[in-house]
Amino acid sequence: MKTRGIKNISYAHEFQMGAMRVKQPLPTYSIEQVSPFILLHHAGPEHYEPGQYKERLGPHPHRGFEPVTFLFSGKIHHRDSLGNEGFIQSGDVQWMTAGKGIIHSEGPSEEFAKEGGTLELIQLWINLPREHKMTEPKYQDISSDKMPVIEEEEGVKLKLVSGEYKGQTGPASTFTKILSMMVEFDEGAELRFTVPGNFNSLVYLLQGKVETGDKEVEKLHMIEFDNDGEQIEMHATEKGKLLLLAGEPINEPMSTYGPFVMNYPGEIKQAVLDYETGKMGSLDF
Ligand code: MN
Repeated sequence: MKTRGIKNISYAHEFQMGAMRVKQPLPTYSIEQVSPFILLHHAGPEHYEPGQYKERLGPHPHRGFEPVTFLFSGKIHHRDSLGNEGFIQSGDVQWMTAGKGIIHSEGPSEEFAKEGGTLELIQLWINLPREHKMTEPKYQDISSDKMPVIEEEEGVKLKLVSGEYKGQTGPASTFTKILSMMVEFDEGAELRFTVPGNFNSLVYLLQGKVETGDKEVEKLHMIEFDNDGEQIEMHATEKGKLLLLAGEPINEPMSTYGPFVMNYPGEIKQAVLDYETGKMGSLDF
């Protein structure tokens, strides 16, 4: 099997989003878009004292893609315009399909706000193919214990969120083929992953340090690999954790504006209009 080379490396720049400091390694000036992956936000790890963190991200709409939350630490509560409500906690994943439109709000659970603790999460926007952009919205709240844990290499523990890997299947159902996993590794570990040859592939390093190709990559960097091969290889020079994402590219035009991801500008205009006229529902919170 051939080993993929590095195509690009991007550093996650930071900005303030509501009460949270957020890092964004995708898109950046060096990595624009790696279909089907559109955007990645990394918040935390940040420690909050009891009563310190109460602020929610208020009601906002989405259409045409899937916002997926990988919660590494903390407790999150969400509500939406369809009347759904849910909680996820450390190690869980929330796979949301915005489809034709949904309005939701998210923030620390009451318990987390009261007790404090450490919050760390990644929110990833995954594109939907044209034929599914206007699908019914839905949620998959996936608890940590539903995800297969694979400990094949020494010092490497991977938790499979979606896709098939080494005979196991991740619990998240997806509209296009997506392999995603949360990986923890020790210093000195050899990281080897196999991805289908036609998939685009990304690694975001939340923590630690790795060597790959002839490069040393530090935490808060995103690596985009080329598509020449099926193997991704890294050597850990520091203990850490990463998110591995690989997916079949969606070869369609993309038009985005704020929280909407469609194919053409006219569809964006329609999304704004549908939101403003209440066709995506409403949520007071
Ligand atoms: Mn949202």
